[in-house]
Amino acid sequence: MIVANNRELLRETVQAWRNAQLKIGFVPTMGNLHAGHLALVKEAQQHCDKVIVSIFVNPTQFGPSEDFDRYPRTEQQDCQLLKACHTDLVYLPTELELYPTGRTTKTQILPAYADILCGIHRPGHFSGVAQVVIKLFNLVQPDVAVFGQKDYQQLTMLRQMTQELNFPIEIIAAPTVREEDGLALSSRNQYLTKQQREVAPCLYQTLTDVRDRLLSAKLNFATVIEEASNLLEEKGFKVEYLELRDSTDLSIVSSAQKEVTLLVAAYLGKTRLIDNLSFTLNNEI
Ligand code: AMP
Repeated sequence: MIVANNRELLRETVQAWRNAQLKIGFVPTMGNLHAGHLALVKEAQQHCDKVIVSIFVNPTQFGPSEDFDRYPRTEQQDCQLLKACHTDLVYLPTELELYPTGRTTKTQILPAYADILCGIHRPGHFSGVAQVVIKLFNLVQPDVAVFGQKDYQQLTMLRQMTQELNFPIEIIAAPTVREEDGLALSSRNQYLTKQQREVAPCLYQTLTDVRDRLLSAKLNFATVIEEASNLLEEKGFKVEYLELRDSTDLSIVSSAQKEVTLLVAAYLGKTRLIDNLSFTLNNEI
């Protein structure tokens, strides 16, 4: 596995692969890798000859009171995991390389994405994500990029952005990897106390319960969701949102027979957890 601490080695290697007509896949991460990240690498390997993973804890996607400083940084362990699953190159940029001084441009995500769901509770977050992904796309120039469905709003936003900015990159979505009890793997799960960890799987259970209720009878979806949200609060969650949205563009669901996604964000203590579940709605709502 090539470890590229700078863009020169990255570009040189990519160029050589391009000359050899190899298809290049890319998985951007913030490190502290777990089985969810490694599943993205495997997904990329299915589609490509070479796979590049980047590790960079991107400051511009964290709010001032968020966990940028305490976000777990485990570079050596991450590199061992990536090597073990045959990653071809890991790119470890410095902050200066991605954010050179002298800014002339700004990346801004429009309200249709930025002012809904996570965007309301994390102002500037999606603009920060877009900014770093554009930079990484320009540096890596992959044929394919793989993102997790775990961060569903991020995935849909990046898919649309890639189209709008004419990046010749295919976006592939990989399913969420979960613990046996249903909790979606996340680097933030390690912040949970033992007691919170026991409660945490309720988040995914709630999503499957709401889906099952909506599919089993002609129920008013707003009522079902409100009841589920109240139940989560009773269990100790502080719910930011629990919403049903159109799976493609996250617009509000208004007609029957739609591909929908139920999205949730909730705090357990100081830890913010997100999850989602996609399904086809049969009922008139
Ligand atoms: P992060 O390092 O948290 O920025 O995540 C990097 C990539 O891994 C993103 O595309 C995430 O959606 C994806 N990811 C994170 N957790 C999971 C998971 N449990 N299952 C699948 N993909 C995940």
